[in-house]
Amino acid sequence: MNSCKYFRLRHKQGRSYYYCTLKSRIIGNECSSCSFIEYRTRNTLKKTTYKHSKADKERYSIIYHDLTKCAFDNSKTSIEKNEVFEGSYRQTSIRLGMVIPLCKTHHDLFHNDRYFALSVKNEFQKAYIKNHSYDEFIKEFKIDYHYLFEEYKKMLKQQKKTRD
Ligand SMILES: [Zn+2]
Repeated sequence: MNSCKYFRLRHKQGRSYYYCTLKSRIIGNECSSCSFIEYRTRNTLKKTTYKHSKADKERYSIIYHDLTKCAFDNSKTSIEKNEVFEGSYRQTSIRLGMVIPLCKTHHDLFHNDRYFALSVKNEFQKAYIKNHSYDEFIKEFKIDYHYLFEEYKKMLKQQKKTRD
């Protein structure tokens, strides 16, 4: 399909023809070789952005009150309100305020550094348990991240020992 934003299929007196709204004239199907070709931006993009920003506004965090700055370095550029528990727990995270504002650097760290991610999850588990209970946390998220974090730290220590 031709997707140049100036391309139109028009009909006149029962005949169809191609029309370029930039050149204001009838054309053949030569758009692919035209130097003025400009692709349409999909309108679904706008919808998603709107939906995203609406959900974004409704986010809150049980730990961080200012969601416009990074939780670790107070940076205010490219902040994302990240769900702490991901995958199938994304919605639960949003519902229960398990959201952390992160700059690009810390967002990358959260996804690539297991120690960092587990420490964040552990903090949120602690904060949640303060106002609810351990059992409620497990009921919602199925996993004890405090235990996981402690085990991970033990493993790192063990690895260090073997290296030394
Ligand atoms: Zn940061």
